[in-house]
Amino acid sequence: MKELSKTRSKLPNSGIRQLMELSASIPDAIHLEVGEPNVNTPQHIREAATLAMNEGFTGYTSVPGYKSLRDALCEHLGYRYGLKITSEQVMVTSGAVTALTASLLAIADADDEILIPDPGWPVYEMMVLAQGSVAKRYPLQLENGFAPDLEQLEQLVTPKTKAILINTPGNPTGAVLGQEQILELLAFAVKHDLYVISDEVYDGIVFEGTHISPKTFDTDGRVISIFGASKNYAMTGWRIGYAVASPEITTIMGKVMLPLVSCATSISQKAAEAAIRGPQDFVEEMRQSYKQRRDKAYDLFTQAEVKAFKPDGAFYMLVDMAELGRPADELVLQLLKEEKVAVAPGTTFGELTNKMVRISLASEESQLLEGVKRICSFIARHK
Ligand code: PLP
Repeated sequence: MKELSKTRSKLPNSGIRQLMELSASIPDAIHLEVGEPNVNTPQHIREAATLAMNEGFTGYTSVPGYKSLRDALCEHLGYRYGLKITSEQVMVTSGAVTALTASLLAIADADDEILIPDPGWPVYEMMVLAQGSVAKRYPLQLENGFAPDLEQLEQLVTPKTKAILINTPGNPTGAVLGQEQILELLAFAVKHDLYVISDEVYDGIVFEGTHISPKTFDTDGRVISIFGASKNYAMTGWRIGYAVASPEITTIMGKVMLPLVSCATSISQKAAEAAIRGPQDFVEEMRQSYKQRRDKAYDLFTQAEVKAFKPDGAFYMLVDMAELGRPADELVLQLLKEEKVAVAPGTTFGELTNKMVRISLASEESQLLEGVKRICSFIARHK
């Protein structure tokens, strides 16, 4: 038989998913590996989905999504960030992951280079490689709160560079970009004529400062901002995300969405509309709850003299295991075996974190704190 796709067969695996699968066979394992809210989707959203089904919203929708949902999203972004956009600039997708994939497909061809953050969500590299483009990692500066360094970025740009992907609040770093940093990044993008793909799926989960959307400062349509329902509304399984971009970009995104998924699920779209239009107390309650968990987990690490990085946003915490002198992908297996705690290996996010692990603060609090205690005793035993 002929060889399978060279490009796709070489795609890397996600270290997060690997740990998730391994730990699934351990019945009493503590799960801190996956970034998923530990609560059910709020009742009013679930009820809206039931109503939508009963009223017959069960067929294909237009490719960019129900107009009523896109209108709701325009109002929401106008209210939250002062964005003045129309429904033609919104593409509703199957989770933010499809919005990211469709954005990349819309702007880049094979061999074009895309700058992605290191450390960064491992799926960025996969999606760039899957479409045949080239992923070039730009380092985030640990000593500078995991911010990108413009001088280093300058050195990575070539005539083939098409876009820079940024993520604020960041996974796994928890860094939240400030206005000045965003303006500098946009000036860099203008200087080199790059598109900016801005992943903002954690926009409702900020503990220090506020989330600023780079789209707010987009003067010429080069910024594509990506948002989603998964993290803010505990809707990971409903698969709803959306991209905000110029009509030129959303038109091409629509063309690639058709062969990808045709449209996001009709029932989920109706549920997302209820989430966006309904009361926002849940988002605030969860934000407060993650903040409390962050502080308690951080205090436990500090008491045990373990170095952890306190996030300003999103719901992850990086924990330094450098003193154990071994790569994180080995340590996470040993930690799972000895302490029955599943965490994500820093190696899956990039170079800078290859001796760190990432824990999710979205896990149930008592489980989270028990997991943190076990991580501390593991480090104490092996250092
Ligand atoms: N972007 C980042 C940084 C993420 O961490 C995730 C999920 O973990 C996503 C995007 C994907 O979100 P969705 O569930 O909307 O596809």
